[in-house]
Amino acid sequence: MRILVADDMPLDRSMLRLSLEKWDYEVVEAENGSEALEILTRDDAPSLAILDWMMPGISGPDICQEIRYGNRSRYTYILLLTSKDDTDDLIEGMQSGADDYIVKPVNLHELQVRLRAGKRIIELQDELIATREELRVQATRDFLTGIWNRGVITERLNEEINRAARANGSLGIIMCDIDHFKEVNDTHGHPAGDSVLIEIALRMQANLRAYDALGRFGGEEFLIVAPDASTEGIVALAERIRSAIEKKPIETSSGPISVTVSLGTIVRIMEQNTSLKGLIDEVDRALYRAKESGRNRVESADAVLRG
Ligand code: GH3
Ligand code: MG
Ligand code: MG
Repeated sequence: MRILVADDMPLDRSMLRLSLEKWDYEVVEAENGSEALEILTRDDAPSLAILDWMMPGISGPDICQEIRYGNRSRYTYILLLTSKDDTDDLIEGMQSGADDYIVKPVNLHELQVRLRAGKRIIELQDELIATREELRVQATRDFLTGIWNRGVITERLNEEINRAARANGSLGIIMCDIDHFKEVNDTHGHPAGDSVLIEIALRMQANLRAYDALGRFGGEEFLIVAPDASTEGIVALAERIRSAIEKKPIETSSGPISVTVSLGTIVRIMEQNTSLKGLIDEVDRALYRAKESGRNRVESADAVLRG
């Protein structure tokens, strides 16, 4: 575990370094407050810090305050080094956001024990962050393909409708459904069907712009939300996706499988009263037409193009 030692006295620093290295910490040194603050605000800041209280420039408690104020993703456990034993000052120091303090001259055994407690807190913190991240992924991502799940893509669509409505902007939607997917499962098995779903999500994603969003809307149905789209643009995007999926068979454990998709598209200028359900219904009808007229094709809900 990496640890920052900030002290303006070179002798104190090297003494601490010696012990810390013996206890298997990787030591980073700072010789004044501003250097310490700079190190602690880096992305790869050490998660433990021993800060001298009194340093020229920025003091230990000031650093604590700065660090706690910023909204950092990882926690830094901070131990203040003080030669003061005035309790008023200690309260002030701890109120600045320090986790613990140790009085100089440092009793090495005591330091070792205190650091062990700090290390445990950091480890718990890391576990907590990992769990939170895992939960976040589970709550927002489709477990099979890793793209947004239905809840998130619907929410995204809602947000983009409102955003576009405020700016009188346009919004495009593509609904994409795999053709005869039941047959794929029946012929090659469900696991092969799963591989097809994963690969199709990848090929769709590869054709999107950075600000388009892709989600799994149903079993073998995908929804793309494309802000600022034009009718021609959205049809071209759907066509690129259709072609990318048709072009190359998908490798699965049951051998290569050729699949196609049908897509419906819609682009509308958003207004205050544009309804999400109305848009979905319309794009669904376009998709239905694509299915009816032979599958492996793109149909637009927009009269302009169809005319
Ligand atoms: P169409 O061309 O009209 O869309 O025909 P289809 O067979 O694709 O449509 P249908 O709605 O009859 O069948 C959809 C199939 O998708 C049935 C279901 O088993 C399959 N499916 C849905 N979710 C999954 C999944 O997560 N994994 C796999 N392997 N199959 C799935
Ligand atoms: Mg289908
Ligand atoms: Mg379907």
